[in-house]
Amino acid sequence: MDFSWTPEQVELREQARAVAASAVEEYGRHNDSWMNGYSKEFAREMGEMGWIGMTWPQEYGGGGQPPINRLIIGEELIAAGAPIAAMWFADRQMGPSLIAYGTADQQAEFLPGMLAGETTWCIGMSEPNSGSDLASLTTSALRDGDDYVINGQKIWTSFAADADYCYLICRTSSDGPPHRGISEVVVPMQTPGIEVRPIKDMTTNRHFCEVFFTDARVPAANLVGVEGSAFKQTMVQLEHERGGIDRLVSNKALFDMAVARADRSDALIRQEIADLEIGYRLGRILVTREVLRQAPAGFSAATKCFCTEHEVRVAEFVARVFGAEATLWSDVMHGYCYGPGYTIMGGTSNIMRNILGERVRGLPREPR
Ligand SMILES: Cc1cc2nc3c(=O)[nH]c(=O)nc-3n(C[C@H](O)[C@H](O)[C@H](O)COP(=O)(O)OP(=O)(O)OC[C@H]3O[C@@H](n4cnc5c(N)ncnc54)[C@H](O)[C@@H]3O)c2cc1C
Repeated sequence: MDFSWTPEQVELREQARAVAASAVEEYGRHNDSWMNGYSKEFAREMGEMGWIGMTWPQEYGGGGQPPINRLIIGEELIAAGAPIAAMWFADRQMGPSLIAYGTADQQAEFLPGMLAGETTWCIGMSEPNSGSDLASLTTSALRDGDDYVINGQKIWTSFAADADYCYLICRTSSDGPPHRGISEVVVPMQTPGIEVRPIKDMTTNRHFCEVFFTDARVPAANLVGVEGSAFKQTMVQLEHERGGIDRLVSNKALFDMAVARADRSDALIRQEIADLEIGYRLGRILVTREVLRQAPAGFSAATKCFCTEHEVRVAEFVARVFGAEATLWSDVMHGYCYGPGYTIMGGTSNIMRNILGERVRGLPREPR
């Protein structure tokens, strides 16, 4: 087996590293930059470079490039902290979902804006009483003539205050078991009847939002896929979310800073650095396997679990290295306070372990 990169891949990585460095210089460095680094300008630059939708099929306007190229670019941009949040959801999952399940009209309407970095998308899944158990969601979209009328509330909707569109997971029917009757609908955020309230988290980030829908009307033509049968679509979307390099290198710049600062004459610190470096390498193998589609079905749960738990360990290590200084407001403090979020967003580690046990290993479920 040959693990070496081709000359073209090495060149692409160097290009991505240079782009990342100049983006950080221009727009600042961000921990977990696909979530915290929001820049419409940089999104447009990414679009111009063809780095949005680079793996989507060419007939949809994408680059038709191999997934490994996206991994290389994503790794360099996120590890450096370049601000890619304004385009990341569209690139990672909304575009691929519309390509897989959308109509030709939806693809023609929505994909070009994504590819150009012009439109930002948010993901409306979680609700106040429905997070891990997504099938219990209650936000409803009921058919009325040529429209759906939406009522309910979402929470933790990253970028809802900035987004042009929400990819909404909602209930179009309450008949049958909970995972039936779930649908996906594209909702323009300017639709009357939508109120967005940003939430400031303990790191002072404001990307989280509550989103309230009161008789918000969207065209029924915005339904993605088959009405009432979207649960599987949503699970596929979550697979896109879980196995990527964005789950591994979001604290890499902090790690490098801490390694440079650490007292490496201390054997325990050397051991800790080695342990984390091994974690990066193992995580990278897991992610590469996902990207090359060589991982077993559902295994992205294990990849996400391993990689995000690694991110938390890195944040803790960085704070220990900086000691008392870490208690002052800084990137280090931000990274430490933000740390717990890694193992929650995109599905908690507990849920990842459940998926791995029940769906991948086929272990018996505990009776409810
Ligand atoms: C940074 C960040 C960004 C986010 N962005 C978005 C977004 O853009 N859009 C969106 O829709 N959501 C978003 N979320 C929300 C995220 O998807 C949810 O927080 C997550 O799915 C968990 O749901 P919950 O918070 O309701 O916790 P709950 O589901 O209430 O879980 C609470 C605790 O109980 C445990 N638990 C629950 N059920 C089980 C079980 N069956 N077995 C074992 N343990 C269990 C969980 O592991 C957790 O520890 C974001 C979250 C974060 C942290």
